[in-house]
Amino acid sequence: MAKVNNAPKTSKNQTATERAETRAREGLQKSGHFCQDPSCPSKNEPILVKDLRPVRVVPLKGKAKTVFYHAGCFKM
Ligand SMILES: [Zn+2]
Repeated sequence: MAKVNNAPKTSKNQTATERAETRAREGLQKSGHFCQDPSCPSKNEPILVKDLRPVRVVPLKGKAKTVFYHAGCFKM
């Protein structure tokens, strides 16, 4: 049997700069989640990944769910 090595190249060879750029690019993607803060100025726009703050809400009754805020909108 022929040995097939189609494994994609890992990111291990990336430099720190490249990794930072990748992270920055990913951070600018829209997460598809909307801010749950009623006073958020941009609650009608999807939250960017870098601003995303998932908050797990566990009600006394019913199922736990995760809601999302901008990191800057979430206040405990
Ligand atoms: Zn917000």
